Amino acid sequence: MSDQTHFNLSENDIPKYWYNVNGDNPVAPSPVLHPGTLEPVTPDFLSVLFPMELILQEISTERFIPIPAEVREIYKLWRPTPLIRAVRLEKALGTPAHIYFKYEGASPVGSHKPNTAVAQAFYNKAAGTKALTTETGAGQWGTSLAMACNFFDIDLEVYMVKVSYNQKPYRRIFMETYGAQVFASPTDRTHYGRSLLAQDPNNTGSLGIAISEAVEVAATSGGQKKYSLGSVLNHVLLHQTVIGEEALKQMDMAGEYPDVVIGCVGGGSNFGGIAFPFLRENLKNGKRTRLLAVEPTATPSLTKGVYTFDYGDTAQMAPVVKMHTLGHTFMPPGIHAGGLRYHGMSPLISSLYDAGLIEAVAVKQRATFEAAVQFTKAEGIIPAPESSHAIRAAIDEALDAKAKGEKRVIVFNLSGHGHFDMTSYEKYLQGELEDYEYPAAAVQEAMQHLPQVSFPA
Ligand SMILES: *Cc1c(COP(=O)(O)O)cnc(C)c1O
Repeated sequence: MSDQTHFNLSENDIPKYWYNVNGDNPVAPSPVLHPGTLEPVTPDFLSVLFPMELILQEISTERFIPIPAEVREIYKLWRPTPLIRAVRLEKALGTPAHIYFKYEGASPVGSHKPNTAVAQAFYNKAAGTKALTTETGAGQWGTSLAMACNFFDIDLEVYMVKVSYNQKPYRRIFMETYGAQVFASPTDRTHYGRSLLAQDPNNTGSLGIAISEAVEVAATSGGQKKYSLGSVLNHVLLHQTVIGEEALKQMDMAGEYPDVVIGCVGGGSNFGGIAFPFLRENLKNGKRTRLLAVEPTATPSLTKGVYTFDYGDTAQMAPVVKMHTLGHTFMPPGIHAGGLRYHGMSPLISSLYDAGLIEAVAVKQRATFEAAVQFTKAEGIIPAPESSHAIRAAIDEALDAKAKGEKRVIVFNLSGHGHFDMTSYEKYLQGELEDYEYPAAAVQEAMQHLPQVSFPA
């Protein structure tokens, strides 16, 4: 038993419910504001972008929301995902800690993102949506939604940050193989894109700009197209809770309970997905697991950002939400963990962090690659640069336990594999990777452009 490394569930163990932490959240949610009026939005505004079922999930306080049979059927392609004890890493570190990881890289596209992509495509199909728009940075989200739209026969337009479009052709081809149309953002397809290209034809784009373009296309389509977001929103984090629900059962099989659960945070969805079911156990069943979110020092929205209302995108078209933010005009430095380059943070994660129910730490780029390589050499899997942030923190926890002579049980989410990130690994191996300090001056500048919100008075 003590040598066992894989804790495998069967198809029947795929969760039948998503866990909605807002049903147990001691923090009252803040309203979502209209980007024009800065007053609380009506469901009408949101329904231009999203199908009603997802809007209802966004504001729901039901603790458990049933997963439709059609979604569970598709989840079977990769769920339940493995929970693996990293005994070889433990040995390499010489730590008394036990380290487990939940492997979301086992999905067909190589990350956790299809958990929500499939759900969002399902609810859009049910509402009669024929076409979706979305943005993607390095391509993880675009690929996930492309796969999901292919399963439900929905057309998809992906606005891909231009620098990634040019540097990472394989994710684009992956999306096109599923049948999606991919455009290098900023494009000449939108008013906003054309205005940016007029100022600078060589604009290489950003996630905030790509979101603005995808939102503009949906909002001006006369109801023909809806928009889909891969992180940040409550319904996205809800769909990701299948990760933590499975992990709870698998830790039970392992006969241990985590002292700390760790995930990297970009918009907060894979961390929320693994952490919320454990947070429920903390809130309801007297457990005391520490929940640790890990972000880059280059975009430290939780540890350095301000908790306030801000726009979700650069062009101020997306809804305004209360979150930890570096300012919507902040241009994140070019770290290789593209999925973590976002100025804001999920409002749900932000409120829980503000209430002291979760912890956060920021780590530097080179240290994350160092941890990733150590992990690869011990366990064989090459992690996504995003996930490597969680690995860095897990190794630091294991080394701290070693220094203190403690047996600590550590669980982290391996949100994806790094098979499309070989250029980053090459740079690291050649000693060409930069570290980024906290960009204090740029954040201070961006703070001048926060919306002047008078609600709530
Ligand atoms: C997108 C992505 C992330 C960051 O997004 P979250 O919503 O914070 O989870 C992390 N890891 C991988 C592999 C990703 O693709």
